[in-house]
Amino acid sequence: MTAERLITEPGQPTIERGAVVIEAGAIAWVGPVDVLPEVYATYPVTRHPRGTILPGLVETHAHPGTYAQVLPPTTSDERHDQARVAFSSVASARQLASVGVTTVQSLGSRYFADVALREAIASGLIAGPRIVAAGPQLTTSAGHAWSTGGEVDSITEIRKAVRDHHKAGVDVIKVMATGGFMTARTAPWNAQFTTEELRVLVEDAHRLGKHTAAHAHGTEGIRRAVEAGIDYIAHASFVDADGRTNVDPDLADLIAEKGVYVDTCSPPSCPQVPGETVTPRARELYEHGVRIVTGNDIGAVWPPSGFTFALKQLEASGLPREEVLRAATSRAAAAVGLGGITGILAPGYAADLIVADGDPLADLGALDHLLEIVIDGRTFTPDPIPPVRARNRRHHRRIAPQRRACRLARPAATAPRPRRQRFHPDRLTTPRS
Ligand SMILES: [Zn+2]
Repeated sequence: MTAERLITEPGQPTIERGAVVIEAGAIAWVGPVDVLPEVYATYPVTRHPRGTILPGLVETHAHPGTYAQVLPPTTSDERHDQARVAFSSVASARQLASVGVTTVQSLGSRYFADVALREAIASGLIAGPRIVAAGPQLTTSAGHAWSTGGEVDSITEIRKAVRDHHKAGVDVIKVMATGGFMTARTAPWNAQFTTEELRVLVEDAHRLGKHTAAHAHGTEGIRRAVEAGIDYIAHASFVDADGRTNVDPDLADLIAEKGVYVDTCSPPSCPQVPGETVTPRARELYEHGVRIVTGNDIGAVWPPSGFTFALKQLEASGLPREEVLRAATSRAAAAVGLGGITGILAPGYAADLIVADGDPLADLGALDHLLEIVIDGRTFTPDPIPPVRARNRRHHRRIAPQRRACRLARPAATAPRPRRQRFHPDRLTTPRS
């Protein structure tokens, strides 16, 4: 494959008139077309004269089984639930792949449907992105997203659950270190586990060769997770009981020092809104040296089609464009435990790549028009996906003030429209909205 430009890894110089040679699903050679080794000269070639070849994108925080964004809730009969989660997982994974996301980390899925999804894709039964699976999130009894099925209340139960998840085949252990905005009788600023409990979880997960991720909004929960040795923090809102975000600079330094990956769940509105509440401070954390990655809670907050929009929002929050691309490729791959496997275009890496129509280093909008998507060396045929639509104004009057502040600030013309979700893993049994 050849193109006008080739980005092997954000931060490395762009190769003009670049070529990638793919053999048996892996990258065999990368470089300028002019110096293509003779041995590859007879290989069939796809040419993209206007395009830029770059590593496939990575969504580090998705809930692929959240079917309300894929399937209309025409029936809520529980007997259909497992099948619906399975169908939804396939559809949302394929939709993500259709916008150039070649790797998806599921950070929570009912019934371990994400593990089955991973196997179905890896075996070639269905085409889709590379999947990193968490299964049901671990939480306290009545804690955030308890309805997903991972309630644990003691060190013994935590160990048992980690080992049970290992038995079920997960790649990552996800824990709810604080309450959430979408579970009744939890508060996002309240920590849910002690540091010691989280330490046991992390140690046992690491012993079994898995990385760990914590959902953490409030400062105390973030602190405990970081002190316990967590590898990844989702949200990192630093939200206090008054609903406002106050980044703790010392804790931000500690997160940076420990090399913890952080998704700020696509800051939707900053910097436009005075008195902003839960909008994560992506730039503030970035300035402390925190490793930001592109986790967007796809399925919970955003539809799959919102992924590239979220990248633009990250840039709007103040991150350099190249940093956004790094957060979405090489760094994100490392964050989901696939460093050395995907996220970079180099010999020996999996052939997971996209071809943008234009130069994404000049304008991220180039990612809205993809000329080709390749996953594991095979060209992926995208599904038609609905465009990201403006939010429904009436919805804003019904949602909690913290969320309203966050959502109203999104540009109305381009922000995704919220959908009612009945069985979302992070969602309340009695939604506030
Ligand atoms: Zn989530």
